[in-house]
Amino acid sequence: MSKQPRIAVIGAGLGGAAAAALLQKSGFNVDVYEQAPAFSRLGAGIHMGPNAMKVFRKIGIEQPLEAMGSHPDYWFSRAQDGSYLSRIALGAHARKEYGAAYITVHRGDLHALQIDALLPGSVHFGKQLAGLEDTGDEVRLAFTDGSTASADIIVGADGINSYVREHLLGFEAPTYNGWVGHRALIPGEALKAFDFDFESCVKWWSEDRHLMVYYTTGSREEYYFVSGVPQAEWEGGNASFIDSSQAEMYDAFKGYHPSVQALIASAQSITKWPLLNRKPLPLWSRGRMVLLGDACHPMKPHMAQGAAMAIEDGAMLARCLGETGLGDYATAFSLYEANRRERASRVQAVSNANTWLRTQEDPAWVFGYDLYGHELKTESAA
Ligand code: FAD
Repeated sequence: MSKQPRIAVIGAGLGGAAAAALLQKSGFNVDVYEQAPAFSRLGAGIHMGPNAMKVFRKIGIEQPLEAMGSHPDYWFSRAQDGSYLSRIALGAHARKEYGAAYITVHRGDLHALQIDALLPGSVHFGKQLAGLEDTGDEVRLAFTDGSTASADIIVGADGINSYVREHLLGFEAPTYNGWVGHRALIPGEALKAFDFDFESCVKWWSEDRHLMVYYTTGSREEYYFVSGVPQAEWEGGNASFIDSSQAEMYDAFKGYHPSVQALIASAQSITKWPLLNRKPLPLWSRGRMVLLGDACHPMKPHMAQGAAMAIEDGAMLARCLGETGLGDYATAFSLYEANRRERASRVQAVSNANTWLRTQEDPAWVFGYDLYGHELKTESAA
């Protein structure tokens, strides 16, 4: 009796969950292995542009996501004195011109929706991958809890410190790029003490730093900020984040508009994250293993598109495997790279440069992209 071919997705982050959902929808037999024992609602927001929302439409979670998210009419960019640098139309304009809504939402709420979209029993928590062997016929996996599994192909969706990437290319720590991000959630109620118009989506800029601010719920009960601030050394060692403070934020945003000072005053708990990076990888797949998202092309978060690229990757990989079937995974992997490398690299470069929407520009190449709206290319232009 022949066994049913299987796909193992390593990492149930935003990219891995998108890939797994779409592969399952196409009828593939998919198991997801996630190192975390469970997911919690960590304090962070996230933008989801129309390009990602079109993928969520395919997964079947666009409507609930729209219902939970905030729908900004504009992305405003403002100088530290409050003057406007750009007004990028979103809202109804995004739906009409880019084919889906632009939302901002709590990252944990989005992620929970994505996990719920997976087939019951297909996500295995507490499974940290620590061993991989491609035997030629299959891939064998070993986890730190002593358990093992096997699959026909492996999707490395295990983030910036990817074990799958390390297996393919050798150990190399990601580089700290000299920037930190401060993050805080602010109860909407706290903002009522101030006489400012707290806009739905605004990025405050000065020469070498910025503060991105937006609502994470449609009811405006939660406001969120994430900074980008230069800092020569990361003091947190291997920690993915450490505690910060209002004093540190006041210092970093001295001279900024009073409404920014009001945000800092209202933030009860502030965390600080190192921004990490890697050089572009020489390969996206080898043998039965393929990479996606931050495992493959991490970027500074300044364009708010890193997760969207992971989600697009997952959707494109599912589309390519759907075209070829699992038996011809090698063709699927090369189609996948041909259709992702150029776009992901361009977004990575713009994100790292931190110029996105600072001045009035046309975002159609990012937001208008429809992963399902074009023929597959067989060769990458990059
Ligand atoms: P991850 O989300 O990192 O998921 C990887 C998963 O793999 C995790 O669940 C992890 O636990 C698991 N894992 C890791 N190792 C193993 C292992 N050995 N075995 C099993 N499981 C493993 N992007 C946006 O699109 N919009 C934004 O607004 C935005 N804001 C950001 C703000 C900040 C401050 C930062 C740092 C990033 C931001 N990003 C944003 C970028 C975004 O968070 C990442 O690009 C995105 O999370 C990448 O998704 P991923 O699925 O590739 O990896």
